[in-house]
Amino acid sequence: MHPSRTWYRNAIALVIVLLLANNVFATATQLQLTDEERTFIEANPEITVTNEFDWPPFDFTVSGEPAGLGIDLMELLSERIGIEFRYINGFTWDELVQMFFRGEIDLIHSLSITPQREKDALFSEPYYHSKNVIITRSDNLDVHTLEDLDGKIIALPAGWSSIEFFESYYPNVHIIEVSSSRQALEFVDQGKVVATVEQEGIARYFIKKFGFHDLKLSAWIQNDELQSTSSMHFAVLKSNPVLFGLLKKAHVTITPDEIDNIEAKWLGKQGLDIGKEDVGLTPQEKDYLMTRGSIRFSITPDHLPFEDIRGNSEYGMVSDFVDIFSDRLGIPFTLVESKDKHHSIQLLLQGESDIVPMVLGTEDQMKVLEFTSAYLEESIAIIARESLPFVTGLQDLTDERIGVTDANLLEKVVLSYPSKRFIRLTDSTEDALFKLSSGDIDALLLGIPVATHSIRQLGLTNLKVAANTPFKNSYKVAVTDPTLHSIMSKVIRSISAREIKDVYQKWVVLKFEQELNYRQLWQYGVLLFTVVGVVLYWNYRLRTLNRKIATSHQELEKASRELHILSVTDSLTGLFNRHHFEKTLESEIERARRYELDLSLIILDVDHFKHINDAHGHQVGDQVLVKIAGIITERIRKTDIAGRWGGEEFVIILPQTDLKQAVSSAEDIRAKIQALENNDALQVTASIGVATWQAEDKTSDIFLRADKALYEAKQKGRNCVVTS
Ligand code: GH3
Ligand code: MG
Ligand code: MG
Repeated sequence: MHPSRTWYRNAIALVIVLLLANNVFATATQLQLTDEERTFIEANPEITVTNEFDWPPFDFTVSGEPAGLGIDLMELLSERIGIEFRYINGFTWDELVQMFFRGEIDLIHSLSITPQREKDALFSEPYYHSKNVIITRSDNLDVHTLEDLDGKIIALPAGWSSIEFFESYYPNVHIIEVSSSRQALEFVDQGKVVATVEQEGIARYFIKKFGFHDLKLSAWIQNDELQSTSSMHFAVLKSNPVLFGLLKKAHVTITPDEIDNIEAKWLGKQGLDIGKEDVGLTPQEKDYLMTRGSIRFSITPDHLPFEDIRGNSEYGMVSDFVDIFSDRLGIPFTLVESKDKHHSIQLLLQGESDIVPMVLGTEDQMKVLEFTSAYLEESIAIIARESLPFVTGLQDLTDERIGVTDANLLEKVVLSYPSKRFIRLTDSTEDALFKLSSGDIDALLLGIPVATHSIRQLGLTNLKVAANTPFKNSYKVAVTDPTLHSIMSKVIRSISAREIKDVYQKWVVLKFEQELNYRQLWQYGVLLFTVVGVVLYWNYRLRTLNRKIATSHQELEKASRELHILSVTDSLTGLFNRHHFEKTLESEIERARRYELDLSLIILDVDHFKHINDAHGHQVGDQVLVKIAGIITERIRKTDIAGRWGGEEFVIILPQTDLKQAVSSAEDIRAKIQALENNDALQVTASIGVATWQAEDKTSDIFLRADKALYEAKQKGRNCVVTS
């Protein structure tokens, strides 16, 4: 080798060694410890640190392990100081904050400063700033600033500093406290509340990760007070100044590059991709699945809404869960038909199927089978005839004959209520309900989902869900193979509460609520929900909400009335909103069909409305919309129905009106709009599409024709009426 090359290489090696040494030296010397601090470290090789389960990308858990931006920062601090951090998780944020202030946890992070908190804790410099945004459903056009939330209901996670903020500065905003950011977004998504306030990073993360396609970030919050609540700090109680000093020393040694890396990891693209698919299989487990090719499962027929066999395939909640399993593992699941629940277990034991996806797991079964943790829970309720006087629970039943179909449940209830008259029935839910309906027994213990489903199915209108009991059934996956047990356990853990709830609602809750016409009176829905005690795995999240409902019932009643009005009309123009308009259009079309009546539809879109907004401001734009709504209301007949479809689009149903009459109405409205405030600075015009109902038309058909006509009107140069 050329001598100069060797020299060159040695020089580089030397530089590297020096750099490394310098680095070690640097970190070691940067933390200049006092004697007191050294003693502290020796005495406390480990401290406890908060870890929330549900606040990505800042602080959450993945398969039980802490993860997130805040956690990575904590790990850097831990490394610098030389103390192990033990993370305390499994609690809600609210609980963690309380534990910290009670001195049960040493260090809290991802915390914002409030005057209240500053009384007891020492706060670090901020390590992350985020802007707050207001999140609403995409079809909400009314919320542009904090002021627009006045009088509305919003959801905020319990224990959040933003609650203090709203209570002090916007006391007219009704706050529903929920257990997590995710739940807050869910409430917005489901229309239970108008909005939530969240940090931008989190909002985007959740909207993408959980597919909240109907949500949007409606506005930035331009408010220093709230903004200051969204920078993150770590904190230690004032009683522990030594630890705080250590953390502060370590914090200043963290370089901008280190912080950049962490932020890129969690807030950049990478962070967004931590998938729900993170089942966490080992290479051996993956091999096992590869060799297997598919998983066979057997289910119980006639057990809706949980499971049934329709045609040759699975039906009910189980079908969705099996789809999730299959999706997560990337392997098909095939059905092995069984006659009943005993037969399913037999097939499993004989090796003819690999899993039974929905089993309660009796003690006998526990001896021979492996189970995953429970993923779905149902409450057992007392079902009775309508005529049974009001009861609040099993304790109120004295002489009544109480039927039980499930042997295990019977064992449990007899133990708790030895003096009651329990009667063992066959396994058949149907038989049991008929016995109850005809008076052979006086009450029946059944899981609520199955009971409500079967009562409806069998048309037994003289039966009711009378009261809840403390007994629950929890469904698990049963397996025999130990490798598959481990795999299925991981899959079950990877399923989020939201996914479970979605499946559950698809098959149970929505139908249940709709039938009672409680859909919009959601608070009552929630109340009913707790009264009958349909308890899901995720139900504990509703605890705070329930407390709130109990304590401020009146307030909520008022709010619910408001919510009802809101859910029918558009708050800017007072016209019907899109949702209500759609429903009305459907029933009007139904009427037209039945009585062979005429019916026309007008769609109106303001021309170049963007210009109006841009040139005169949003508020003037709003006024124009209100004026147009006024013209519409004034020009149409009493029997016509006007709605705001969204933005600057209006719709009008004209019952018993043919195309010619409708066009004349439309022309009238168009001319009046053109005549509105006819100064050059603000010339408002609108384009209109008109269509008439034709036999065999579906709602969407007439709508599409009117929309097409509107499009043509725009093409033709706007400010005109076109028919189709
Ligand atoms: P065109 O004639 O083609 O319909 O042009 P346009 O500008 O009216 O059409 P476009 O649909 O692109 O723009 C509609 C604008 O209406 C965009 C949005 O900013 C504005 N807008 C939507 N809802 C509201 C509202 O509630 N108030 C106000 N002031 N503006 C709104
Ligand atoms: Mg438009
Ligand atoms: Mg327009």
